[in-house]
Amino acid sequence: MIYYQITPKNVNAHIFEVQLTLDNPNPLGQVFSLPNWIPGSYLVRDFSKHIVSIQASSNSKSMAIKKLNKNHWIVQSCKQKITLIYEVYAYDLSVRCAYLTNQRAFFNGSSVFLKAVDFDDTPCEVTINYPTDSVLGQWSCATTLMPKEKRQNSEIYSAKNYQDLIDHPVEMADFTRFEFNIEDTPHAMTITGEHNTDIARLQADLQRICQHHIDFFGGNIPFDNYLFLTLATTKDYGGLEHKKSTSLICARKELPTTDKPNITPEYTRFLALCSHEYFHAWWIKTIKPASFHQLNMSRENYTEQLWIFEGFTSYYDELALLRAELLSVEQYLTLFAQTISKVQMGTGRYKQSLAESSFDAWTKFYQQDENAPMLLLVTTPKVQYWLSY
Ligand SMILES: [Zn+2]
Repeated sequence: MIYYQITPKNVNAHIFEVQLTLDNPNPLGQVFSLPNWIPGSYLVRDFSKHIVSIQASSNSKSMAIKKLNKNHWIVQSCKQKITLIYEVYAYDLSVRCAYLTNQRAFFNGSSVFLKAVDFDDTPCEVTINYPTDSVLGQWSCATTLMPKEKRQNSEIYSAKNYQDLIDHPVEMADFTRFEFNIEDTPHAMTITGEHNTDIARLQADLQRICQHHIDFFGGNIPFDNYLFLTLATTKDYGGLEHKKSTSLICARKELPTTDKPNITPEYTRFLALCSHEYFHAWWIKTIKPASFHQLNMSRENYTEQLWIFEGFTSYYDELALLRAELLSVEQYLTLFAQTISKVQMGTGRYKQSLAESSFDAWTKFYQQDENAPMLLLVTTPKVQYWLSY
């Protein structure tokens, strides 16, 4: 077992403190690493740049720790239990990293949990402490990590191994939470941030989308529970898929309210985002390119099939809204026409094949510069939407 403990140490300075304890380290010198990217967003992001300090000890005795490269560290030879304590700067509002203020704590494991190299299959346990700083509201914790124990000021979870540990984002805040079951599988959504959502309507619409996807994939549900973690802000937008959950950011005007009974373009956009990320639970988290079965978290993982997984998902995210009778045929075709227009305005489809654009996603689609928009527009409508999510 590898033990992790994460504490929102200073909400005003945006600092998490993480403690990692490994019982039987490599006696020749244990190496630790942090991912350089997060699955679902195909860009090397170098999360290790946010580690601001790191110390190692064994039996209360300080141990030397040395950096081998940008995201690997080695602790001096030691046959006994090693404890690392390090601080992580967390002030990225996106769904991809970590964020900490007095309103909210959010983190992906890939930004905060170091991996003990060569302990890939070792089970992990993580204690999540509530902050001792004063925060706004009464915070709760939401995640699909396996719950083990709830204490007054902390919650303990477990994960099968390191890869499992980093595939469950964690949200702590004074959020709204609602729950529903689909075919006996518990689903929930949390909404953090100011909002005035018509929860009954959102829940009913989400249920129809989820049921559509479950039926679409033949009734096989690849998770035992599912969680939509939503952050409502003034204008942001984005989502990231995980095995049993998704992190979403939307503008609060995209959430439904009782004074707008008809489906608005803004609400349609939010439902399509939910639809997209939920579809990924099957289509890339379960069925995936061969090269994604053993991910190398330190470098790019190339595949020529990203267009199949992101492109098909983008195609079905809005189509599901039509099939679930949330959009009329006219409303759906209007959206589809907009997509086709965008594709036809570009010339990317004359420059690269879908396989080539998939392979280059790490340095083109996800790393746009003045040349990239042209290359975004490939042969199939919707594939251009990769970057939206
Ligand atoms: Zn996607």
